[in-house]
Formats: sequence, C-alpha cells, structure tokens
Amino acid sequence: MAAVLDGSALARTIREELRGELADLSRRGVRPGLAVVLVGEDPASTVYVRSKTRACEELGIASETLRLPASATTDEVACAVEGLNRRPDVHGILVQLPLPPQVVSSRVLDLVSPAKDVDGFHPENVGRLVQKRARFVACTPAGIMELLRCNAVPLAGRRAVVVGRSDIVGRPMALLLTHADATVTVCHSRTVDLPAVCREADVLVAAIGRPGLLRAEHVKPGAVVIDVGMNRVADLEQARRLVAPARLAEFERKGYVLVGDVHAPSVAEVAGALTPVPGGVGPLTIAMLLRNTLAAAELLET
Ligand code: NAP
Repeated sequence: MAAVLDGSALARTIREELRGELADLSRRGVRPGLAVVLVGEDPASTVYVRSKTRACEELGIASETLRLPASATTDEVACAVEGLNRRPDVHGILVQLPLPPQVVSSRVLDLVSPAKDVDGFHPENVGRLVQKRARFVACTPAGIMELLRCNAVPLAGRRAVVVGRSDIVGRPMALLLTHADATVTVCHSRTVDLPAVCREADVLVAAIGRPGLLRAEHVKPGAVVIDVGMNRVADLEQARRLVAPARLAEFERKGYVLVGDVHAPSVAEVAGALTPVPGGVGPLTIAMLLRNTLAAAELLET
C-alpha cells in the first residue's frame, strides 16, 4: 500500500515555525494583517474563507473579511481592493475565487498590490515565478513543493506529470517542478491517451476537479501521487464507487464526502506514496497563505 503523505502534520510543523517569525515581527511592533474579499455567499467559498481566517487568528495574524453582495459589480469589487491597497495595517490581500460571473476577475486580481498579493496571482508575481525569482507563489503549488521537499521526494531528472493547467494550481505547479529540475509534462482536457502519459510520471499531480478521475491504470508502480482535488460528493452510489467502505460512515454523518481527483482505493495499491483527501494538500495551502502573509508584512515593514 502507498505511504500516506500527511499534509496536516506538516502544516502543523510549518505553523509552529511561523510563530517564531511572528514573535520577531511583534518585537518590532508589527502585527501582520490579512484581508479577504468575499463576494456573494457561495457555501464552499464561505467555508474556505472561514478556515483561512481562523488559521490566521490561531497564529496571531489580524484577519478580516470584507463581504460584498453577489450582485456586486467589477467596479465595486475593484474599489474594495483599492481601499485595502491603501491601508497600512493590511499586509496581505486575498480575493476569494470564483467571483460571480458579472465580475471581471482578471481586472480585480490585476489591481491587488503586487506587494500584498499573498495568493501570488498578480501578473507581476507570476512573471517573477516564471523567471525563477519568485516573491509570492500560489499557495497550493507552494505547499505541494514543501510536502515533496520534506518527504525527500527526488525531483531532479525525474519525470513529473501535472494534470490540469489552471492559473491557480496546474500552471504554477509545472513551473515549480521545472525549476526543481524535473522533466515536466502538463496534461489537460484535450490530452490524448491520458493514462499512458500519466504512467510516465515518477511524480503525478492531479488538479482537475473531477472526482476519482485518475485510477490505478494512470499510475506507474511506486510513483508519488499528489491529489489536489477537493470534490464534495453527495450521491451515495457515487460515494460508494469513490471511497473506501470505512469512509461511508462519514457520508452518513455529513450527507457528503470530500474526495480528490484520484481514485484513492485503487491508486493506493499501485502508488509508492499518496496524499489523502482530506488532510493532504488542503492544510498546506493554508499554511502557505500564513507564510506569505508574514513575508508580505516583512516586505512592507522593512
Ligand atoms: P480548474 O481551473 O477547473 O482546472 C481544471 C483543469 O483540469 C483544467 O486545466 C482542465 O483542462 C483539466 N481537466 C478537466 N477535465 C479533464 C480531463 N477529463 N482530463 C484531463 N484534464 C482535465 O480547476 P483548479 O482550480 O485547478 O482546481 C482543480 C481541483 O483542485 C479542484 O477539485 C479544486 O477544488 C481543487 N483545489 C484544491 C485546493 C486545495 O487547497 N486542496 C486548492 C485549489 C484547488 P482544460 O484547461 O483543457 O479545461
């Protein structure tokens, strides 16, 4: 059976390390602050924002959520972001995605001050990442790199396959793996013979948004598999097909189960190591957000 790459445990260790940095900032009279812009009431976004702000509070970072109605216009969201850019007590700004369809996301994200862009989505920060002089790196791929590093997963000269090419996960992930000297292939919805391409991977990253899409036939024996997917499955029959029987009690309790893009029961029999869902990539994403917020405070206060 594949070894479990425990993201929750590593996230706890990272948070402990950040306490030292926070104490250092505090001695200099700086209290890092994160502001989240949340537009509308999408239940998943609301849950994500709550866990991010709770993690800030637990560490001692000031956090606030600026809520706008689902009907907000691009100008209204832009105006909120510009207000936060001007505030000296706000070091990090995060615009929770997705924004409602009438809001032009790129216009809003382009307005976040690059020095406060703790999500690493601003074109300036993406450009810096491309040029291998990153300042803020998107939190999910940054967390995955930490997980690979801390588990001593070799990357130089290895074959890495990233399934998904989003701005948030797939694309920055591929850049980071390239910078770490892996030979990287990026797959997407138009890739021909996905199983064959995935089977070339020593390190396989799934960031697709399709529950259980990658199965044993996609995985080279012994490969390290990183499951970024976070899909809420509320249909019992589908849940039965996707999770081990032990997790069905969770379904009965909550009315749904969270599953990744990897079919964990079958892949665990082939892979060398696998991240669980939940408890794998998710907690590391939050840990990297905290780290980026402290880095932003450091940048703005020196
Ligand atoms: P996204 O923007 O929807 O991108 C999905 C990517 O998967 C696209 O590039 C798409 O290809 C590709 N794809 C879709 N169907 C495919 C198929 N059948 N075969 C191969 N590729 C396919 O999603 P995202 O924002 O990157 O998120 C991906 C997943 O990660 C979601 O489940 C999301 O909830 C999760 N996530 C988790 C965290 C975390 O902290 N754990 C953070 C962010 C996201 P095209 O480009 O051709 O359309």
